[in-house]
Formats: sequence, C-alpha cells, structure tokens
Amino acid sequence: MRTGTDDAAETQVQVCVRARPLLPNEASHYERQCIRVADGNSIVVGNDRAFGFDRVFAGDVGGEAIFSAVGHPTIEAFLDGFNATILAYGQTGAGKTFTMNDLMKRCVHHLHKVLSHDCKMTLSVLEVYNEQVIDLLDPSRPRLQVREGNDGDVFAAGQMVAEVTAAADLLSYIEAATSSRSTASTNTNATSSRSHCIATVMLTTKSDTGRVTSRLNFVDLAGSERIKKAHTTANTGGTERVREGIHINGGLLALGNVIHALCDGKSHVPFRSSKLTRMLQSSLAGNSRTVMIACVSSSDQSMDETLNTLKYADRAR
Ligand code: ADP
Ligand code: MG
Repeated sequence: MRTGTDDAAETQVQVCVRARPLLPNEASHYERQCIRVADGNSIVVGNDRAFGFDRVFAGDVGGEAIFSAVGHPTIEAFLDGFNATILAYGQTGAGKTFTMNDLMKRCVHHLHKVLSHDCKMTLSVLEVYNEQVIDLLDPSRPRLQVREGNDGDVFAAGQMVAEVTAAADLLSYIEAATSSRSTASTNTNATSSRSHCIATVMLTTKSDTGRVTSRLNFVDLAGSERIKKAHTTANTGGTERVREGIHINGGLLALGNVIHALCDGKSHVPFRSSKLTRMLQSSLAGNSRTVMIACVSSSDQSMDETLNTLKYADRAR
C-alpha cells in the first residue's frame, strides 16, 4: 500500500498493471509483443520506456495470483469494515472485463467461504453513461439522480438495492445486470463498452461496538482510448458517439485527478467534477482501500494506447 498508516483516516491507493498476452488472432496477424515485465514492479514498453508500479502482472500471470495479490487483501479489508474499491482501467480490448469478472468470481467465492449466515448483504449495480446514472438491476427505472444525505453519504436516489442472502447469489445478479450495459460498436472493438459499470456489495456486520457497514465496489471503467480512434460517420449517429467519448474521457480524467489528490493527501478532492467520481465518493473518501488495475495489451499495434494507459496510471499515484 502506498500511503497512510493503519490508524490514519485516509485512503490507501495501490496502482497495479496487468498486461494481457497476445490473443491467438493477434499472433497470427504478425503482431508483436512490445512490452516486457522486468520484475513484479516494473514494465518496459518498446526498448526503453520504463514505468514502476505497486505490482505489475505479466501476460502469463493467472487469475489466482492476481486474486492473492489484489483481491484477497481487499476482501479482508472489506470484512474488517473498510470501504474498498477495485477499478479496471484501460483501452477497449485490454482485458478490463476479463480481469474484473474473474476477480469478482474469486472474491465472491472467498466471501461465500468466510461469511456466516447471520449477516446482511445488499447489491446495487449502476452504469454511468453520458453523465447519466442508469440502474442496471432495473434498467426500466428512470435515470437516477445523485443525492447527498445529511451524513455526507452520496448515493443514486431510487436505485434498486437487492438483498442477497447467500454470497453465491451475488454473481448471478451481477451477471444479469451487466448484460444490460450500454454498448455501441466502434472501429476499435465491435462490442466496446462506452460506459462505466459499478457493482457495489454492502455488508453489515455486528461487532462489539454495534453495527458496521462496509462497501465493496467492482468498477469496470469505460475504454480509455482517444476519441479520434472511434471514427464514426454522420449517418450512423456520429454526433452521438463523439459526445459519449467526450463524457467518458471527462469521467476518467476526473477519476485520475481524484486518485491523485487522495494519494497526495490533499484536503480538496474534486469528487464533484463527474458523475463517476460522485458515485464513488463515499467509498473513496475517508478510511478506505482502493486498487486500480491498469490493463494493457502486449501488442505493438496498441503501443500508443498502452503508453497512454501507463502515463495515466503513473500520474494517478
Ligand atoms: P475490455 O473489457 O478491456 O474491452 P476484454 O476483457 O473484453 O477487454 O478482453 C478482450 C479480449 O481479450 C477478450 O477476448 C478476453 O477474453 C481476452 N483477454 C483479456 N485479458 C486476457 C488475459 N489475461 N488472458 C487471456 N485472454 C485475455
Ligand atoms: Mg469490457
């Protein structure tokens, strides 16, 4: 963990990188590996662009090892009453959803093993798309308004909060919810997701001092690629698409600034600058644990976006 001490009421932010291997179709198109993971803490792009992070996972590192390094400590903090957030950042196709889904599965499995039956858990799943907040547990609900309670808690008014009695049920709820995510085809990836998805598990446990509620967020962020790549034409709704791009970049930019401010221990954290950061405010502020996993492709065809992702992740710390 990068900042803070155990008893300080501050956010601890960890920034990790996961490089996915070349996919079979990429290898057969003569794409080349353009990154090298020198050790568990650094990554080199091309010949000489080196970056250091809390952890770097090479293409051959599997889900179990990532769970041990990232998921397990996060779940333990969550069970101890801390708010915890795992975010996946990166260009479309870099492995955000793959990484998040796998981590969620392992985290839920772990919760299932350790939780007793008398605790109450709830789930909400929200999508932030074009600066609108959509309830993925019930997409028929009108767009949700962001509200702040008297206790400073920020929430989406009217969101569905599903009570979950068995940890094992969490996954099927989340899977059903994320299948309703807004997608639009772009030339980067036909099913590229243009939206941020936030799955939140809330756990209330009894302790000697009363009830403790903690929150665990799994955040699959929108693709971080630049708008110029997602070219669209006027008669296929080009205007609409560009507007999405601008908003998404705004949310990711705001998130970078928020994480940077938290890491620096700044007194002003600009949560209000986007819906994404607003929805994460209650979890990131205060005594909490946050892990950002920057996902990158290993292919030389993605070198520019990989560098953009690593610069973003590097700046966030
Ligand atoms: P994103 O959500 O960032 O757009 P995906 O998670 O959909 O990207 O991944 C793109 C493709 O790469 C998918 O076919 C996925 O199965 C594959 N992939 C991603 N990460 C890995 C990995 N670590 N190992 C093997 N395949 C991966
Ligand atoms: Mg995805």
